[in-house]
Amino acid sequence: MSEKNRTEVDQLGEFGLIERISKDVEINHPTTIKGIGDDAAVIDCGEDYMVVSTDMLLEGIHFDLSFMPLQHLGYKAIAVNVSDIAAMNALPEQVTVSIAITNRFSVEAIDMIYQGIKAACKNYNVDLVGGDTTSSRAGLVISVSVTGRVAKDKIVYRSGAKKGDILCLSGDIGGAYMGLQVLLREKKVYEANPEMQPKLDDYEYIVGRQLRPEARTDVIHDLKEIGIVPTSMIDVSDGVASEIMHLCKASGVGAAIYEQKLPVDQRTFDACHEFKIPSVTPGLNGGEDYELLFTIDQEDFKKVEKNPNIYFIGYIDEAENGARMVTVGDQVVPISAQGFKHF
Ligand code: ADP
Ligand code: MG
Repeated sequence: MSEKNRTEVDQLGEFGLIERISKDVEINHPTTIKGIGDDAAVIDCGEDYMVVSTDMLLEGIHFDLSFMPLQHLGYKAIAVNVSDIAAMNALPEQVTVSIAITNRFSVEAIDMIYQGIKAACKNYNVDLVGGDTTSSRAGLVISVSVTGRVAKDKIVYRSGAKKGDILCLSGDIGGAYMGLQVLLREKKVYEANPEMQPKLDDYEYIVGRQLRPEARTDVIHDLKEIGIVPTSMIDVSDGVASEIMHLCKASGVGAAIYEQKLPVDQRTFDACHEFKIPSVTPGLNGGEDYELLFTIDQEDFKKVEKNPNIYFIGYIDEAENGARMVTVGDQVVPISAQGFKHF
């Protein structure tokens, strides 16, 4: 390949690259119900659908071992995968875990990672059924694949949102991003002066959101109990702005969200104030909150209206309106996805 034809990956970005990869992928099996393009692939396994997803965590890209305890890392690797299963309205059943380790890691260190993995498996009721173990020259890699199951008439895609639907969030956003800002700041302080101990006590909530996120399988159970099947759903890994744009694109709709309705915890808000970051930014563009963003039919609103755990942040309308936010000052601004930059 001559360098003349060379295109840098960051010109396409993560989503552009995935689109390019998926362009001429053939689907030949009638059991493949949904391939690339949602939170998980959907496979017909008889009575139900099986959903399958995979997510890889790389040291230096997704985690920093100078502040990420190994047990938490193991837990998070499972949680972020289970989150994609929940985003299909499914419940997880099995995981495989592959690790690439450098000689920096002792057996005891690997044990700690697996303590976290096993705790998460227990918590989400999934079986660890396999994986792969190999060595790495530069940094730790953890790659997890996960399966889940859902009744065929209960599967939820990114593509089902329709005009009039209500946009909902399962929890507060922006905490994970602000937790990361605190951890990075304390790391810098420590590097400048190793005598200084990190001051994290005041930031327990947001640091916890970053280091120990939970997949919202509890919401999937709750929705089932209430008798609601969302019209579309996605999990918030890259920030609400990016996820809303995915829903709009996949569903061929537009959306309006209200800044005032975005759930930001007081502790996240306080950290934003301290870091002089507008409190709307971490939730929209930070990511890693692993809450569920979903749409429901207006008819279903009365079933969840009084549910304190569901936040109503906006509505769906026509595609030509695009995705936009109504600010506290009543201005309408287009939503642009900055998301988490992988490249
Ligand atoms: P999520 O953030 O929910 O994990 P991603 O943005 O990573 O989703 O992926 C979006 C879609 O693209 C998924 O269907 C995923 O399986 C698919 N995908 C991502 N990377 C690749 C790849 N290298 N080859 C094929 N499919 C991919
Ligand atoms: Mg996802």
